[in-house]
Amino acid sequence: MLANYGYSDGSGTYYITLDTDKCDGCRDCVTACPQQMFLVEPDDYDDDKAVIKEAMRKDVKYLCAPCKPTAGPRELPCETACTPRAIVHSW
Ligand code: SF4
Ligand code: SF4
Repeated sequence: MLANYGYSDGSGTYYITLDTDKCDGCRDCVTACPQQMFLVEPDDYDDDKAVIKEAMRKDVKYLCAPCKPTAGPRELPCETACTPRAIVHSW
């Protein structure tokens, strides 16, 4: 399942998508994110899965800005840390 955390406004679409089929609950994103946006918690089936903390979901554009270069290749700490490649940013 794809779980989307974020929002759209007049300036664009800002979602972090977590693929719960790929996420193995390793917590590497929790360690890697300088803004401490990730939490790993049991889902409905008691499997550990990453989520974006609720209080941060309306601010993802601003919280992630320091990680995102305005030009050239980018390597986001969360995406790089996630070996199963379960994390995708929409912007
Ligand atoms: S690093 Fe990837 S696989 Fe590990 S908990 Fe985070 S999202 Fe899931
Ligand atoms: S881009 Fe940076 S701040 Fe945003 S979730 Fe990834 S590691 Fe955290």
